[in-house]
Amino acid sequence: MRVDKHIVASMNRQLVLETIWEKGPISKAEITRLTALSLPTVIKIMEELAGRGVIASCGKTEGSAGKRAEQYVFAGDAFYSIGIDMTPTNLKVVVIDLNGRVLGCGKKTFDQIPDVDSVLNDTQALVLSALADSAVAKEAILDVGVAVPGILDTEKGMVLFSPNLRWENVDLLTPLRERLFAATGIRWELQMENSNRTMALGEQYYGSGVGSDYFICINLGYGIGAAAMEHGELYKGISGTAGELGHITVEKDGPLCTCGNNGCLEALASGRAIAQQARNLISSGVKTSILELTGGDPAKIEAKTVFEAAEKQDMAAVDLVRKAGEYIGIGIASYINLLDPEIIVLGGGMSNEELLIEQIEKVVKVRRMRFAGRKVQVRVSELGEYATAIGAAAIQLKRLLRHGGRLHANGEEEAV
Ligand SMILES: [Zn+2]
Repeated sequence: MRVDKHIVASMNRQLVLETIWEKGPISKAEITRLTALSLPTVIKIMEELAGRGVIASCGKTEGSAGKRAEQYVFAGDAFYSIGIDMTPTNLKVVVIDLNGRVLGCGKKTFDQIPDVDSVLNDTQALVLSALADSAVAKEAILDVGVAVPGILDTEKGMVLFSPNLRWENVDLLTPLRERLFAATGIRWELQMENSNRTMALGEQYYGSGVGSDYFICINLGYGIGAAAMEHGELYKGISGTAGELGHITVEKDGPLCTCGNNGCLEALASGRAIAQQARNLISSGVKTSILELTGGDPAKIEAKTVFEAAEKQDMAAVDLVRKAGEYIGIGIASYINLLDPEIIVLGGGMSNEELLIEQIEKVVKVRRMRFAGRKVQVRVSELGEYATAIGAAAIQLKRLLRHGGRLHANGEEEAV
């Protein structure tokens, strides 16, 4: 069989670069041992990567044979990227270096679900302010990643269906690219990915998923979503819609979901659902302190109001949180039975609510099949409220690691 030598060279380069990313600081001899490539091949690839500024030497340390060996690291602090996280309740923008350091950020909260045009306006303004905040020159930004909830055509930059944002067949990236060009004079390459998957990318490179090839990231917020990392790659499915954990049916005749189905996990246990259930309780006459926390206005009840009341031992609120935790636990136990992951990372706005997480962990233990997922660890994301935006910015890191350098807008690799 004839093997294209360019493909082999490209695979070898990716192998060397990923080894430096994962294990650095690391010496040439160690890379040779770990990759099973020849020393001359490793040296040639490293010269090329250093020429592109993708790796850098960080001095010498004592090698295993007592010789002082030159050590190399991924030069993540030499590349910058912008990440944008669009949700129905807020918009977040970060400027990071590719080591995952947040250098600038900005956030805008929405009172009601925003339309496309206002999100584009706000994004343009936030990108400019986050850039100014970061003190990174706009010319130094490699690319921009955008996280959007729902089903997307990432190639065309289209939002096909986002029940939470109520957007359908929206061309998002073309107008966004034009607006950012008008504002900065730079035509950045824009990439988009589903919010749950970008959150998983952030965890893979900078968070609780580092070092794991099989983990699941669950986004517990206004909606509920998930993304699975399988053999270090995002599992997408044949049409790219995999991971819609929020829309598995957990109650046959349950409440109507935004997707049009009944009894979805999201319709029973998401932040939006918890707030709605609290409003329903109040209108049916149940006594609870939830209403007092919003100054008597039921329209102002959010999931966090319910969590706050639960913390103060309001039994109606505690009951709502426990029920939501039970449904989420059932969903996660099913996911474990199906996929046998190493780690479950819980992220999103509700992942720092202790009572909810306790209940989820309890139900997961009871509900999952005996021996299924027996090695699984449940972790709460440590990337904070900008986790999804950081993941969106990391879309570019994935491309950089794969190609060993910057890609031009036409997909061609940068010349050395
Ligand atoms: Zn649904």
